Amino acid sequence: MTKQKFFANPGIDEMPRTTDVIIIGGGPAGTAALWAIERLAPGTKTVLIEKSDRLGAGSSLASLENYRTCWPALCLAKQMERSVEVFHNADEYLGEGAAHSIAVKERGYLFCAFNESQAAVLKSDVQRLHQIGLTHIEYLDSNEVAHRFGWVGDRVIAAKYDPVAGWLDSNALIYRYAGSANSSKILLGIQDVRIDVENGYVIGVTTPNGHIAAPKVVIAAGAGSRQIGRTAGIELPVILRPRQSFTTGWRHQAFPEDAPMIIGAAPYPHVRPEARDGAIFGWEYTWHNKNVDAAYGTNSKHDAIIDPIYPAAPLKDPRFPSIALALLARQFGHAEGEGFASGNYLRGISHSIGYYVYRDESVAYSTGTDGIERPYDSERAIIDACPDVPGLYISIAHVGHGIMSSPAGGEILASKVLGLPLPDPVFREFGLDVPWAEFDEGVL
Ligand SMILES: Cc1cc2nc3c(=O)[nH]c(=O)nc-3n(C[C@H](O)[C@H](O)[C@H](O)COP(=O)(O)OP(=O)(O)OC[C@H]3O[C@@H](n4cnc5c(N)ncnc54)[C@H](O)[C@@H]3O)c2cc1C
Repeated sequence: MTKQKFFANPGIDEMPRTTDVIIIGGGPAGTAALWAIERLAPGTKTVLIEKSDRLGAGSSLASLENYRTCWPALCLAKQMERSVEVFHNADEYLGEGAAHSIAVKERGYLFCAFNESQAAVLKSDVQRLHQIGLTHIEYLDSNEVAHRFGWVGDRVIAAKYDPVAGWLDSNALIYRYAGSANSSKILLGIQDVRIDVENGYVIGVTTPNGHIAAPKVVIAAGAGSRQIGRTAGIELPVILRPRQSFTTGWRHQAFPEDAPMIIGAAPYPHVRPEARDGAIFGWEYTWHNKNVDAAYGTNSKHDAIIDPIYPAAPLKDPRFPSIALALLARQFGHAEGEGFASGNYLRGISHSIGYYVYRDESVAYSTGTDGIERPYDSERAIIDACPDVPGLYISIAHVGHGIMSSPAGGEILASKVLGLPLPDPVFREFGLDVPWAEFDEGVL
């Protein structure tokens, strides 16, 4: 008889009383942690607690589900290399049939340059990537762009191309992680989980459905992580920025179904084919929403917020789809009614929003020769033990790549929880005590 794994709003009798590890949050980070703990120490009893009635109810719902290998910071490059290995061998790592269900489409990423100075930046990016061993990343000159991707048009004079990139079904990935953790119980619909700490040590969690004793608890709740941390008496050092995407049911004819993800120049509007005839778009712009400041008072210090606003829908910028399309049309030189400037794109749009979770300035800064600490927007997640509360672990701040990095992210977290060496020493840079890493800055 197969053991029941999923429990939706379990009654007190169904609640596990004790377990080895509790993971709070059922997104890519939390479910990958379940999977990796089972792989590294089979039989470890785990309980995952998710507040929603389904897994993957956070930022992954709004995501473009992309992955890429071209990361200039070594820790991120290694994290993606390992993660892509898992995606490429999904049946082996995630169980039979996983490759079919996660449906990897390896179509590449094409970063486009429209003038000489942008081309020079892409060229130097590629040099850096080659230096750290990513020799599959190519710099394409105008002839090569025209030869391989002529449909992008003659405004594109050069490109950086990552052929080991693409997209996948993130929901299927999350459920595959969960399904392959044989010793886990997954509790859905659990609101208001609180971490219990006694004499400074984690002893479990309390939920409205009952208490679960455990010596180790992992916070992997995306934008909700800071609030859970407070129940253990700590402030987790993260900030949130709302990010949007939109899907169209239409794509202009010249933009083929087998196209790579294309990324324009600053401010980097990006788009890829979606389903058969559609497309999915993103664009990350400096976010400072005065309405939010006035209504919620959470936005005075950063161009970011501290506590999430749920649902995030009121934060959607209604101009976002039309501005992203206009930017792409301008950069690619499409006249009114043509290409990205076609009015057909604006019919039947599905507009989404989620949070990017970043390190805050207390854990992401460089120190100059003058001794002054300068905060920066780090791309590095925090995957670590919390030194102030023994037994508490975090896998948070996965910014805009928490799906693509989740396999290796899960393994890093699992090695911390299980007291094993890190899979690669460079993963130490995901620690709370490493404020800066080389080339760790916004790359889109
Ligand atoms: C517009 C947009 C585009 C993106 N594009 C990409 C992309 O192309 N590729 C990529 O890799 N990443 C992308 N991302 C980023 C990616 O979605 C996130 O990095 C990733 O989802 C983070 O995973 P997570 O598990 O840390 O958090 P989440 O995905 O937010 O999951 C957190 C989970 O915890 C649950 N939770 C929250 N609070 C509690 C609580 N109190 N108790 C119990 N459960 C709780 C939530 O319901 C949710 O299920 C994008 C994000 C956005 C917003």
